[in-house]
Amino acid sequence: MNENDTFLDPSFQPLDDMENNLRPSLLKDFQGQQELKDNLGIFIAAARERQESLDHIFLNGPPGLGKTTLASIVAHEMHAELRITSAPALEKPKDLAGLLTSLTPGSVFFIDEIHRLRPALEEMLYVAMEDFQIDWVIGQGPAARTLRVPVPPFTLVGATTKAGMVSSPLYSRFGINLRLDLYPPEEIQLIIQRSSHILDISLDEQASQKLSRCSRGTPRVANRLLRRMRDFAQVLGDGSITQDLVEQGLTRLGIDEQGLEEQDRRILRTIIEFYQGGPVGAETLAISIGESTDTLEDFYEPYLIQKGFLQRTPRGRMVTSLAYGHLGVELDHKSIAPNREQQGDLFP
Ligand code: ADP
Repeated sequence: MNENDTFLDPSFQPLDDMENNLRPSLLKDFQGQQELKDNLGIFIAAARERQESLDHIFLNGPPGLGKTTLASIVAHEMHAELRITSAPALEKPKDLAGLLTSLTPGSVFFIDEIHRLRPALEEMLYVAMEDFQIDWVIGQGPAARTLRVPVPPFTLVGATTKAGMVSSPLYSRFGINLRLDLYPPEEIQLIIQRSSHILDISLDEQASQKLSRCSRGTPRVANRLLRRMRDFAQVLGDGSITQDLVEQGLTRLGIDEQGLEEQDRRILRTIIEFYQGGPVGAETLAISIGESTDTLEDFYEPYLIQKGFLQRTPRGRMVTSLAYGHLGVELDHKSIAPNREQQGDLFP
C-alpha cells in the first residue's frame, strides 16, 4: 500500500495505539454483531459457571473489525490474563514453547494471523491445545529424547483474515468458530457515537450518519476518520463536527460519498480500461495497481464487493454496472459482470 493511500488502511498503525481507550473491554460495549455477541456471551457464562477455561476460539474476518478487541473482552470477562502475539513473530519452536509454558492458568492466548504459523510450530500448538502439554525434543540423532512439558490450561484465540489458508488439523481443534463481517452503517454509527463520547467530541446526528457510510464497514477506519474530522473541526471550524464539515473533510481526504478512496477507484478503472471490465486474476490485478495480492484481497476487495462494485467469479475479478455508473464511465454491455440472478457459483 502506498504511503499516501494508507489513511483508510484498516491494518493497525502506531497512532491507533493512542486510542486504546476506545477499545471496549466488556461484551456489552462491543457494538453490533449481535448474533456473535449473544453466542459468545452464552459460552463465556457457561465456562464461568463450570469454572473452566473457555474452549479455543477461531476468529475469522477482514482487518480492523474487532478480532483483537474480542480476545481482550474474553480475557476481561473471564477475569483472565491476555497474552498477545502474531504468527509471523514466532520464528522457532522455542518462541512458542516459551510463551505457552509461561502462561498463567486460564489465560487467553491470542495469536493473530494464525494462517502464517510455521508447520513445526503448528504441530506443537495442536498438542498444547488438546492435551495442555508440549513435546520438547532434547538432543539430536539416536540420542534424542522427547520430554513432555506441561502447559497451563488456556484459551487460544486464533485470528485470521484468510480462513482458507488455515490447515484443517489446526482448524479442527477450535471449539468455537466466529466470523466477523463488515459492519452495516447503523452499527458503525453506534461505534462512532460511542467513540465521540469517550473522546468528548461534539458530533451531530447527520455528521455521524455520513461518516458511518464512508468508513468501509470497519470500526478501525471509523475511529480514524472521526479523529481526522476532529482535527478539521478544530482548525477549520468551531470544534464541532457537522455534516458540512464532514463533507469538506472527506473531500480533502479524497474519499467519495460511497466511502471509496482513490485506490479503490483506480482498481475499478484498471479493470475497465485494461481488462475490458474483467475477468482478471487477483495477482495480475494486484501488479497492475502496485499492491500486494494480500492487500488487494483483504482490504480493498471486501468493501468493493459489499458495495456491489466488484465480483469475484471463478474466472477472476469483474466490475459490475454499478461501478461504471459510479465512475461515470460509459457501459460496454459485453464486458460487465452478470446480475446476481444470472451469475453462477462465486468463490466465497
Ligand atoms: P482487528 O484485530 O480485527 O484488526 P481490532 O480489534 O484491533 O481489530 O479493532 C480495531 C479498533 O476498532 C479497536 O481499537 C476498537 O476500538 C474498535 N472496534 C472494533 N470493533 C468494535 C466494536 N464492535 N465496537 C466498538 N469498537 C470496536
